[in-house]
Amino acid sequence: MEFITTQNFSMPALGLGTYQLQGQEAVEIVKYALEIGYRHMDTSEMYGNEEQIGQAMREVNIPRSDIFLTSKVWPEHLQKEQFQAAVERSLRKLQLEHLDLLLIHWPNSEVPLSETLEALMSAQEEGKAKHIGISNFTIPLMQQAVEICGPGVLVNNQIEYHPFLWQDHVIQEGKKLDLAITAYRPLGKGKVFEEDTINDIAAKYDKNAAQVTLRWIIQQEIAAIPRSSQKSHVQENLAIFDFQLTEEEMSTLSNLRGNERLVSPVGIAPDWDEPELITS
Ligand code: NAD
Repeated sequence: MEFITTQNFSMPALGLGTYQLQGQEAVEIVKYALEIGYRHMDTSEMYGNEEQIGQAMREVNIPRSDIFLTSKVWPEHLQKEQFQAAVERSLRKLQLEHLDLLLIHWPNSEVPLSETLEALMSAQEEGKAKHIGISNFTIPLMQQAVEICGPGVLVNNQIEYHPFLWQDHVIQEGKKLDLAITAYRPLGKGKVFEEDTINDIAAKYDKNAAQVTLRWIIQQEIAAIPRSSQKSHVQENLAIFDFQLTEEEMSTLSNLRGNERLVSPVGIAPDWDEPELITS
């Protein structure tokens, strides 16, 4: 497994996304992923599967310290007391002492950012999270958050990123602020399989479009957290460390990128960075 590293932080480059994985299916697929070599799991209080993920982690014979687990607090819970309660609830459901990474799932303009960030930093000071970060933060929000917390405190921004969404500006600014970037919805929810250019490159390496796309992401030193409930997919998505895309192939995928944002929940999503801004 490769790692994504910044000055003070390191995380396995590939993780298992768990959105929509529920019940016994979630337990089985997380156990399977851990057994075949995944060491990074991504959940959220909103996914409703923290109990199952904790159960899977207990049922495999892998030391807790070898597994990197992320969870997130939903934007309705960003006021100080609600935030503390949400983190405690997550840990209780997981039956764990700490998270490896605790994220604010989405910003919420109705709660002062400083209040949420103080609650986030307190969770870290209390040992409930080894590392802390943000998700779905735009460039100005990311800059404000780092300004409030000071350098080196926040370590990650988890954002939507796949071959159909141009995100260079937020990625570059994040890296400048020493934030590791995690790409969520990395396969565009399966849309990469419809793209001939990606399928052609995949054929050359005897890989598939998901594997080439994940390789393209981690070669940019960005973590990826693809999700599947199918063991064969989970296995395929891990088999991306035995080949390397050429610079030309990297550019071919990069040049596909447009403004196809797939995740933008009404009433929750922030004002996204303008596409004009990013092409300048
Ligand atoms: P994804 O891009 O990972 O696509 C998932 C789809 O691709 C599923 O239908 C799956 O069956 C299919 N798939 C996966 N591997 C495949 C393979 N090898 N071959 C064929 N099909 C394959 O989309 P996602 O689940 O939305 O995103 C991944 C994870 O990112 C989520 O599970 C969640 O953990 C995280 N996420 C975070 C946020 C956030 O706001 N922070 C938002 C969305 C998702």
